[in-house]
Amino acid sequence: MTSLPLIPVDPDAPGARRASMPPRHLADLDLAGRRALVTELGEPAFRAKQVSTHYFGRLVRDPAQMTDLPAATRERLADRLLPRLLTPVRELACDDGATRKALWRLHDGSLVESVLMGYPDRVTVCISSQAGCGMACPFCATGQAGLTRNLSTAEIVDQAVYLAGVAASGAVAGSPPRLSHVVFMGMGEPLANYNRVVAAIRRLIAPAPEGLGLSQRHITVSTVGLVPAIRRLASEDLSVTLALSLHAPDDDLRDELVPVNQRWKVAEVLDAAWDYAAATGRRVSIEYAMIKNVNDQPWRADLLGRLLAGKLAHVNLIPLNPTPGSRWDASPKPVEREFVRRLRDAGVSTTVRDTRGREIDGACGQLAAAEDRDTDRTTETTA
Ligand code: SAH
Repeated sequence: MTSLPLIPVDPDAPGARRASMPPRHLADLDLAGRRALVTELGEPAFRAKQVSTHYFGRLVRDPAQMTDLPAATRERLADRLLPRLLTPVRELACDDGATRKALWRLHDGSLVESVLMGYPDRVTVCISSQAGCGMACPFCATGQAGLTRNLSTAEIVDQAVYLAGVAASGAVAGSPPRLSHVVFMGMGEPLANYNRVVAAIRRLIAPAPEGLGLSQRHITVSTVGLVPAIRRLASEDLSVTLALSLHAPDDDLRDELVPVNQRWKVAEVLDAAWDYAAATGRRVSIEYAMIKNVNDQPWRADLLGRLLAGKLAHVNLIPLNPTPGSRWDASPKPVEREFVRRLRDAGVSTTVRDTRGREIDGACGQLAAAEDRDTDRTTETTA
């Protein structure tokens, strides 16, 4: 792998940054918490709802536009409730503007990314839950750099709110103006940042002004398969969609492709997935990156089919997006078609994910890595 770590390993090295959590933001708190904070600031409690309405309801974060707040306190309230968490570094567009990838710098210099994808009937954002990732999957660009830190609840939520504002401005031609879907498939392992991710989900689904008012069924949490955390998520009063990054049906190969498999085996993680499906009534999405001559053999399709037949599951095949310097490539189309055919013959619902954002390094942490290498981009637009 040639991609460089985003953060120098030695914190005392020249130019090293110390990762640190950001200031508190209203999206870290529920409405009661925001009221308490506003009261602490010596303001009437109802200001919490006013500022929340601007942020979540109107997607406004500029205090100058909050004309229902007294001019004297506007700046101070915005400063304390809406500190700037994400600074856009660059925005890349492709697919005629229907896919936009945003690279953000956080307050401590860490880089994370999000992707906005417009379709005729919906608008999806793919968001990050950590800066970097500690799961070390060898085919994933983010996994090569290691974990910098967890994102705060508000840093997670603000990616969605920010891009909801971009969608609302009509920037995604041919799509509805309202953000409808959120997938935790950006950088990081969401279930390794459990409490903040669950709090972020609560903000995303709470009706405005407490939150963004999304439907739970339109939120997908993707995981390498942290079994205790999957079980804990099943016990929450939530029913978001679970995506399990399986990538291999056998332990020998999965131990290599998803190293956490050395701790929780295929049988164990699938057990947890079926219990999640039973508890929530939601079909589990099985993610499978098709890697040429690695996991794409017909016998592996058959084995996967036997594991999933009759279960509340859907297979999402992802053509591998090769990372810079990787020895791996995507499976040829005929191999992919045969894999799909065998799964369907086994009675398993299967689709191949579209390759949105491929030319701007979508879906696998490559933008942040590219920024670090200072690569030139041809499709760049101003953030
Ligand atoms: N850590 C979580 C979520 C982030 S990755 C997880 O692993 O599920 C979102 C999805 O993209 C995962 O299924 C991941 O395995 C997949 N992915 C990562 N790198 C990829 C690549 N180079 N090509 C195709 N899919 C990739």
